[in-house]
Amino acid sequence: MQINDDFTTALPGDSETRNYPRQVYQSVWSKTQPVAAAAPKLVSHIPELTSLLDIDVSNPDAAHIFTGSAISKTATPYSMRYGGHQFGNWAGQLGDGRAIALGEVNDKNGQHWTLQLKGAGPTPYSRQGDGYAVLRSSIREYMCAEAIHHLGIPTTRSLTLCTTGETIPRDVFYDGNVTMEQGAIVCRAAHSFIRFGNFEIHAAYEETDLLKQLADYVIKRDYPHLGQPGPAVYQQWFREILQRTANTVANWQRVGFVHAVMNTDNMSILGQTIDYGPYGWLEEYDPRWTPNYIDNSMRRYSYGNQPEIALWNLYRLANAILPLFESTEPLEEVLKEYRGTYDQIWNKIQANKLGLQDYDTSDKNLYESLWTTLKSTGTDYTIFFRQLAKVTPEMQEIEIEIQLKPALYNPEEFKGDIAAGFMQWVTQWQACTARTDKDKRLTTMLQTNPKYVLRNYLALNAIDAAETGDFSLMENIMKVLRTPYDEHPNEEGFASRRPDWATTRPGCTMLTCSS
Ligand code: AMP
Ligand code: MG
Repeated sequence: MQINDDFTTALPGDSETRNYPRQVYQSVWSKTQPVAAAAPKLVSHIPELTSLLDIDVSNPDAAHIFTGSAISKTATPYSMRYGGHQFGNWAGQLGDGRAIALGEVNDKNGQHWTLQLKGAGPTPYSRQGDGYAVLRSSIREYMCAEAIHHLGIPTTRSLTLCTTGETIPRDVFYDGNVTMEQGAIVCRAAHSFIRFGNFEIHAAYEETDLLKQLADYVIKRDYPHLGQPGPAVYQQWFREILQRTANTVANWQRVGFVHAVMNTDNMSILGQTIDYGPYGWLEEYDPRWTPNYIDNSMRRYSYGNQPEIALWNLYRLANAILPLFESTEPLEEVLKEYRGTYDQIWNKIQANKLGLQDYDTSDKNLYESLWTTLKSTGTDYTIFFRQLAKVTPEMQEIEIEIQLKPALYNPEEFKGDIAAGFMQWVTQWQACTARTDKDKRLTTMLQTNPKYVLRNYLALNAIDAAETGDFSLMENIMKVLRTPYDEHPNEEGFASRRPDWATTRPGCTMLTCSS
């Protein structure tokens, strides 16, 4: 693996090379040296990617490379400058406060990647933060990126997980209770880590030249099929960002993933899932659910809000790249397409979740009553669809009940109006599925509805074990998450409903950005 400096040679950097927190102007990135870890240890890697990138993890230097103490002579480590809207408000300069890119690499197929260390020390963008990351949050990012990828959803990737041998203070609930946690560094890989916020910062400071250079760089590098940058290409580029974003979010909805911090600095210009913080997975179906403790009252980033928040963020991006256009019209035209684009993808997903091949408007009521029925009692979003796949058009009430009860958190509630509601809905659904071929229905349902997701309590169990030095549970869970649509008869436990102890345990359903 040869790390090169494609990014830092292509785009203007900060003339100040000392590393202290500050406002940076007129630059896309700042040179940033990682801080050497006390006792770096490589504890896990993703073989598919290390092999693709020709990385020898058995090399004793690997732990040093992936914690940043062995820097390639051909590269310039850097942190990126960006801004963003956080929880609806312009937050000014944010930037890579705890991320340092090692540089760029090409894989065996000639595709480019950027390698980035999360938690390798302070950068000019660290503000009050320390620039480090703890094992708990590193495992959450490491596992989830892999889970999302294998669910077939665009995402940045995990490459390696190293412990640093350091201890880091964290006040998880911002209440003055500081605990010392183990330090760790995830090296993640993506074709680009550029965010909506990278454009917003140049727009906010009227750095139109930089804005254009950055847009042209992204187009030439990651959207080359669009052709040479120019007015028509900029519009088409924005359209593709919008389509990719809609696709990613619709697929989050499909699998019940809640990102929980959809600030514009956490929106990838490639439309990928990026920055795994206090994310969570739906247990009971509830559109108002968010695992993010600090968003509990507003619920801005709750499950049900994600599609509209993506549009809100696209408006922010449109505003930022406006200087590339002569008028607002080309951008407005594209923004108006969002709901149609999103609905088209989501409607197909809804149909496929139910084993129907295509969305038919005459089935609208079937979908609407599905969501109200699921909400009528605590119904596990993931288990429900897998169990539904076992229901056939001929099945009678008793058999249906046997199939559906395992999805309920309070099976004793399956009586009266609640049971009647479910039965009425299933009967309606049975009538619709009778239209489609039996095998095709089953295959569609099993390929659309995963059996295994990174349940909130599974991540916590993996963290608890890893904090004692045992990474085997983490690896076992990740193994199953690599084929999440398959049955794994020996690992049924990883598909279980949330256990009672996890209902109130912080770190399962109550998380913060503290990482
Ligand atoms: P997030 O929304 O969690 O991805 O982070 C928002 C901003 O806070 C980004 O600019 C991060 O780089 C920065 N940040 C978060 N945690 C830390 C930390 N421990 N040290 C420095 N900066 C941080
Ligand atoms: Mg972020």
